[in-house]
Amino acid sequence: MIHANPPTDVRVAAVHEEQADCEDTSTAVVEALTGANSETIINNLAKFPHCLLLTRVGQFYESYFDQAVEISQMLNIKLTSRVFSRQRIHMCGFPLVHLHKHLKTLVQQKRCFVALCEEFIRPTPFGQKPTFERRVVRVITPGTLIDEPFLNQYENNYLLSIAPSPNQSPDVASAALPVGMAWIDVSTGEFFTRLTTADNLRDELVRIGPKEVVLPLDIKGDVSHPVFSPIAEEGCFVSHIEPTPASLHVSTPDATDFPDALFHGSEPEPSKTVVSLSAQETAAVELLTTYLHANLLENAPKLSTPSREETEARMQIDSHTIKALEIREGMREGGVTGSLLSVIKRTVTSGGTRLLARWLCSPSTSLLEIKSRQSLVSLFHSRVHLREDLVQLLHGNGDLTRVVQKFTLGRGDASDLLIISSTIAIWKTLKERINLERIMEAKERSEFIAEDWANLVALVGRLDSVEDLDVKIKSAIPVKDLVEDEEPTDEDGPDASALDNVDLNADFKLQNNLRFTVHPDFSEELTRLHQKLEELTLRKHEMEQMFKTAYSAPSLTLRSSLQHGVHVHIAKKRHASLVKASTASFVLIAESNSTASFFNGEWSRLGAQIAETVQELVYAEKHAFETLRSLVVSHEAVLRRNARIMDELDVALGFATLANEMQLVRPTLTEDLSFHVVNGRHPTVELGLLTSGRVFTPNTVYFSPDSRLHIITGPNMAGKSTLLRQTALIAILAQTGSFVPADSATMGVVDRLYSRVGAKDDLFRDRSTFMVEMLETSEILRRATSNSLVIMDEVGRGTTVKDGLAIAFATVHHLYSKNQCRTLFATHFHELTDMLGYTPDHKGEGLFKDIGFFCTDVDETEDGRFAYSHRLRPGVNRDSHGLKVAQLAGLPPEAVSVAQNALSWLKNNSGDSMFHRQRLKALGQSLASAELPGPAPS
Ligand code: ATP
Repeated sequence: MIHANPPTDVRVAAVHEEQADCEDTSTAVVEALTGANSETIINNLAKFPHCLLLTRVGQFYESYFDQAVEISQMLNIKLTSRVFSRQRIHMCGFPLVHLHKHLKTLVQQKRCFVALCEEFIRPTPFGQKPTFERRVVRVITPGTLIDEPFLNQYENNYLLSIAPSPNQSPDVASAALPVGMAWIDVSTGEFFTRLTTADNLRDELVRIGPKEVVLPLDIKGDVSHPVFSPIAEEGCFVSHIEPTPASLHVSTPDATDFPDALFHGSEPEPSKTVVSLSAQETAAVELLTTYLHANLLENAPKLSTPSREETEARMQIDSHTIKALEIREGMREGGVTGSLLSVIKRTVTSGGTRLLARWLCSPSTSLLEIKSRQSLVSLFHSRVHLREDLVQLLHGNGDLTRVVQKFTLGRGDASDLLIISSTIAIWKTLKERINLERIMEAKERSEFIAEDWANLVALVGRLDSVEDLDVKIKSAIPVKDLVEDEEPTDEDGPDASALDNVDLNADFKLQNNLRFTVHPDFSEELTRLHQKLEELTLRKHEMEQMFKTAYSAPSLTLRSSLQHGVHVHIAKKRHASLVKASTASFVLIAESNSTASFFNGEWSRLGAQIAETVQELVYAEKHAFETLRSLVVSHEAVLRRNARIMDELDVALGFATLANEMQLVRPTLTEDLSFHVVNGRHPTVELGLLTSGRVFTPNTVYFSPDSRLHIITGPNMAGKSTLLRQTALIAILAQTGSFVPADSATMGVVDRLYSRVGAKDDLFRDRSTFMVEMLETSEILRRATSNSLVIMDEVGRGTTVKDGLAIAFATVHHLYSKNQCRTLFATHFHELTDMLGYTPDHKGEGLFKDIGFFCTDVDETEDGRFAYSHRLRPGVNRDSHGLKVAQLAGLPPEAVSVAQNALSWLKNNSGDSMFHRQRLKALGQSLASAELPGPAPS
């Protein structure tokens, strides 16, 4: 196992408050350091040459030498210099409170590695100058973030390792060899493996969306290696490491610590099964664990068994489609705005949102799984009060997947414990609320159907009780002490752990600024120490009062500071004179115009006792907290499983709310190839239209064995692409378990979804618009199966009309006769409809008899105005009305007029005649039967 090694020493926070606000350096502090410190810095720079080194010095993080120049530029902070081994060198630094802000810039934006060197105090007897140890505790990379406040809590932060087959070469055959993948979200502990091929890697990369990819060192620089091009195409951030087999410390499969093995009803989630890993997957896990070890160092997690993803259980959506359909991210803004996720998201927890995003990119193909998800949505859809109550409860549900992970990484603080405790209470209430509703319904409804409740009952039935943990936390951490704490912000210190933040400086403690988090009753040791501290504090008060009275000096206080040590402070000069005059036991150590500080033996002895007790208390608390941490870690599997159940509930409740708000219906999923969506709508376009007061026109798509490929023609701007996209989105929503925007929907489960929509060139990678179009088309023709759903928009438009038409025909022919998948094919080539033998009953002829033809129209009024009907009807529309769009777009009137004349001449003189159509039909038939006719008469 890889264990986190919590530091045995405690970090020092030397108090330099007067400097804390400036972005300037703390040269004084650095210069106060011993020579050993310079050595540490030089050693660390040599040990982590690929990293920017940030070294903690008191209340600052600092950088030296050339890196200081680089960092000061990237962070826009002041560059200064200091003398180092008799040489003036560059340096820069910033206060602790800005660590996260600057890490975000360096790691997330600039994609640099940061080696974080922390400062630790070696315990020393009271009164002796503390000595420090500085060591790199972690290398922060984009894929190994733990609990940084800049982590997006609504999305996974995956680190993905890829292990190709040995000797994989650049040839085509080798692109089909197995490639192992392992990916982990360090912040949540979710850990997966999968076997794929270099050919499929790009789809996987888009679906998983890793923040960092790790490759074996031996293929570094080998750009011809088949795994490189998909990684380069997706612009992934890549790291290399030499895997060490010894670092494979994954626990053996055990259903109880199997974090993502989920359960619909009483079934295990079919996509993840406990199986032994293939050689490539094992290699990928080795690579991943080596990398985690090398970078997380003292924070390296104990990894649970990875969940293995099986291809068959998930709808495969290729990389272009995930992007083109704007499932997770919108095209225009790049972020989630305008995406399917943003429009349908009604989840209220971060864990639920992450699960929803994952499900949308890999919908299920298991009827059992889809139906059980639907049954939850259906139940919540029809029980509004129950739904509202549960959603209300979920608002308080903590992100326990992340919180538990913090504890397993040796982090987590008292406020995290309270989140666990309050969340456990929510689970209990939630379970009770569901049970109550079911019991009431059974009593009140004559037609109570137990089956409706079966899945929900089974799901919440798997919520394990963790009350023992709750009781322990409640007794250990008094809630009232922490509730006033502010939410951690970006400006907080670098370490969320309250105990690590406890300032051990005894002087500081003596200023009463001290707060303990663990209840005194938690252990005998704590009880004893708290009592002792109380007694000593009382003695301090008594002593103070005694001095005040004895020397008639009401401004006298007993204090301690870095500068003067344990001392007596007097705020009024008059009082100070009295003390000075009347006793020899007060030795003056400092004086200003108005105040004076004295050394007093009696107070020094008491002060030392207080400081020692405080120190003992801090260690005892740390020990108590370690006990609590171990307790949480021992409940890890149960907490994770419960948290995952909450995620599922959140998604189901969100789908039910969505169904209610957007009038969605429950689709019927089947095992055949049917597809009948009546009056379907496009969820995002509909919402967009609604916001501008317009209404969406619904349309029906009906694939049947004798009409499995539809040719869609019609004017520009009349809604062809919208129809194509909505059909794909409805399939995705249905297989994710959501209801769908339609009057009714029945569909056979789709195994793969492909799209060729929207043309975008990729000149950066030396690909023209047409090349991109052909690459995507060829991928579809090679991979679609009869269970797939394909949408294709305007294939062949990026080249000459003749070339384009030939390619469009070949594509339709291939999809229809070879792939035999359900296809919507939108085109402006109406000659294509002739080649397919379009007949008056809106079908193809001969070899193309199972092709359907549909179109949209422009409605023209007598006064020359027009409107797009957006209504699909059987038939072919040979008029694209391109000039109308040109007119709408503001083409100069003279240009429009020339275009109109040109069009009218072309129509009168070109081959849009019956004779021409018959020839095209004959051509189509013979092409399909591979008997090409002779050349057409000129
Ligand atoms: P082109 O052939 O020029 O690419 P198109 O036929 O594919 O055009 P779309 O891009 O689908 O047309 O639609 C154009 C616009 O028409 C959409 O942005 C939307 O505002 C509107 N629209 C599309 N479909 C509908 C519909 N069913 N109901 C109402 N408005 C719609």
